[in-house]
Parts: sequence; structure tokens; C-alpha cells
Amino acid sequence: MSPETVPTASGATATVPMVRAERVSKSFGSNQVLKSISLEVKRGEVMCLVGPSGSGKSTFLRCINHLERVDAGRLTVDGVLVGYEERGDKLYELRPKVAAAQRRDIGMVFQRFNLFPHMTALENVMEAPVLVKGANKAKAAARGRELLERVGLGHKADAYPAHLSGGQQQRVAIARALAMDPKLMLFDEPTSALDPELVGEVLDVMKALAASGMTMIVVTHEMGFAREVADSLVFMDGGVVVEAGDPVEVLSNPQHQRTKAFLSKVL
Ligand code: ADP
Ligand code: MG
Repeated sequence: MSPETVPTASGATATVPMVRAERVSKSFGSNQVLKSISLEVKRGEVMCLVGPSGSGKSTFLRCINHLERVDAGRLTVDGVLVGYEERGDKLYELRPKVAAAQRRDIGMVFQRFNLFPHMTALENVMEAPVLVKGANKAKAAARGRELLERVGLGHKADAYPAHLSGGQQQRVAIARALAMDPKLMLFDEPTSALDPELVGEVLDVMKALAASGMTMIVVTHEMGFAREVADSLVFMDGGVVVEAGDPVEVLSNPQHQRTKAFLSKVL
């Protein structure tokens, strides 16, 4: 047994990273969008992923979350290969049911909140646990209220999305993702669609989530958040990782011209 797979007392494998990409590539037709991406996010860590539009950030998150399938390289979440099953030395595409089961452990928050407009905040948060996990309705409601409290919206449980601000809707979307008890949370520009005065309340919720030990990958242009909260900062451009490291170091002393040029635009 390699040191990587030694189980701990809790049954978890302590040294397996939550996300590991090894030379991951992905093309759409002749457009190679991810070019041999390698990176790692350890359990409990926050990684901020930055880079210009079109650099492949969303595609990378979508690969982690089973929304796209990598064409080459190895992508694992919690030690389990994403999208494929390994039998012997051959890879087989995962059956949709197996993929769906793996996907339940991953929460994703998009730029657009995508709440169900005909459901209250609480109903939005309860939906997946009840429908997908078959959770008891009363229990799901109690837990839903708890999660809404946690994002500062206990008093809005019965409000419909149309009556909530963008920042409040995004906080409901975070609560909704948390309702499935994910072990990993992916954020794809969660504050980009918000009016500037609403950005802080969403970042505060994400900050608290990070402090609670959640493993997170956050695509964002909020460099203050990256500096303060992230354990690592990855700069992508043209489908490659140009530079990665400690956020404070990368931000204050970028090594590559492309990183410098990008940062000069967003800082
Ligand atoms: P980013 O999130 O960094 O802005 P994306 O991952 O969204 O970048 O996109 C990277 C490239 O992949 C872009 O050129 C985009 O047009 C292309 N792309 C993304 N999704 C698809 C798709 N489903 N089909 C074809 N091309 C796509
Ligand atoms: Mg994107």
C-alpha cells in the first residue's frame, strides 16, 4: 500500500487531496480549452482560480462537477476518478447513476443564482435533500432554516426570490448547495453579477464557510478575498496554469508577464 492510501482511524485517507488534477486536458472540437492542467486542493483548503475570460476556469470547474468530461489526464475528487471507472488498466465512462451519486458530494454556486422562482427561499433549500436524498420533509425544513440562519437569512425563509436582492439570492443559493452536505464547494464567479454594494455580504458568507473548514475552489476576480481567505492562488491563461502559489506572494510578486498584466487590470 502506498503512503497515499493509508487509511486513518476515521476511515478517511488523510493524505489524499480533495481535488487532484494531473495533466488534465479538455477540447471542444478543435479548441483545446484545458492544456495539461495539474493542481491540487487539500482537504479544508481554499483555492482561488483567476484568469482572463476564456482561459478555461469554468470548464475546469465543470469537469470537477461532472458537467464536462476530461479527455486526457487524471482528475480525482477525494481520491475517486471523476467521470470514469478504472477496471484493470482500462477506463470506462461512468454510468449516469454512478456519476450522479458522486456529484451529490459537490456543491456548486454559479454567477447567476438559478433559484426556482416559484419556490420560497426555504423550499429552494429543501428541494434537493427531499427530492434527491429522500429526506424527511420536516427534518429538511428544520435543517433548511438552520442553513438560512447560517447565511444570515433566517428571516427570509418564506420570501420568494423575486423579493430578495441579488446578494440575498446568492446566499440562498449557497445555503441550497450546503443542504446536500457537500465535501467540496465550487464557486464560479459568485459575485460577478452583483451590484457592488451586495458583493461583501456574499464574500462574508464564503469567508465563514472557509473558516468552518469547507474545501473550496473559487473562481473570482475579488483579489481581496483571495489574499485574505485563500490558501492558494492559481492564475490560468489560455488553458494552462501560468502561475500558482501563496496568494500574498503571487499578488505582490507575480513571476510572469501574463500574471502581471492580468493583475494590473483587476487590482
Ligand atoms: P472562463 O471561465 O475562463 O471564461 P471557459 O471555461 O468558459 O473560460 O471557456 C474556455 C473556452 O472554452 C472558451 O473559448 C469557450 O468558448 C469554450 N467553451 C466553453 N464551453 C464550451 C462548450 N460547451 N462548447 C464549446 N466551447 C466551449
Ligand atoms: Mg467562466
